[in-house]
Amino acid sequence: MSLLELTSVSKTYRRRGETVHALDAVSFSAQFGEFICLLGVSGCGKSTLLQILAGLEHADGGEVRMEGEPITECHPEASVVFQEHGLFPWMTVERNVEFNMKARGVGKTERGRVAHDFIDRVGLAGFEQRYPHELSGGMRQRVGIARALTTRPRLLLMDEPFGALDAQTRSVMQSQLLELWQAYRATVVFVTHSVDEAVFLADRIVIMSPRPGRVRSIVPVDLPRPRDRADPRFGQCVGEVLALIHEDLRQLVGA
Ligand code: ADP
Ligand code: MG
Repeated sequence: MSLLELTSVSKTYRRRGETVHALDAVSFSAQFGEFICLLGVSGCGKSTLLQILAGLEHADGGEVRMEGEPITECHPEASVVFQEHGLFPWMTVERNVEFNMKARGVGKTERGRVAHDFIDRVGLAGFEQRYPHELSGGMRQRVGIARALTTRPRLLLMDEPFGALDAQTRSVMQSQLLELWQAYRATVVFVTHSVDEAVFLADRIVIMSPRPGRVRSIVPVDLPRPRDRADPRFGQCVGEVLALIHEDLRQLVGA
């Protein structure tokens, strides 16, 4: 059995007479401990799919199962990291990191202990009493990741968490995330529109094509970890994935 199994998931948004067919018959699975990247151009339904996996949106067709059980609402075993606005601006780093535990009824002493452990692990010791606006973009995302991990999720859902970061910070964050993933062995579904990021992170890349969002292909990345961008095989893999995406883009613009 897989940790996560999506079968023919479809979603149509209807709003003020307008209909957007966001997802059409999306199927794939994620094994226990696997790192999956959802890759596709803007508007192909990646965020919609992630929201469905988080139980924040409902699919109107198909099924999502986690460990065999249908996901119909927010799953206690899943945690989400968003691109931005994920932190409460009026709460300190410490309070933000404690939030998911507090929401699950974890006691104050245990919350404090676990929060400090994760703040330390993401390299933010000493910043506990700072507010989000006093932190850099990379530090804010680390707070989000620490908060997501405190409940030891089996499934970590990440929606373009590094999309707003500069290239150097982004690459540091990618390596740090992989270290945490290897330490906690959560299954990760990570949304990105960067081919480089997907090849650096993923065990398998689920490439989505737009209008409506479908699974274009699923590409296993069989490169040893830690991955080296200077390795010619890395560039070769990026080239293969880009070729698949470009084919979609050509069809989209009718070229
Ligand atoms: P991505 O994350 O890949 O950029 P989204 O899942 O955000 O794609 O969006 C997929 C499509 O669904 C887009 O055409 C978008 O405009 C539409 N969409 C997303 N959310 C909503 C919503 N809440 N109401 C109406 N349409 C939406
Ligand atoms: Mg999105």
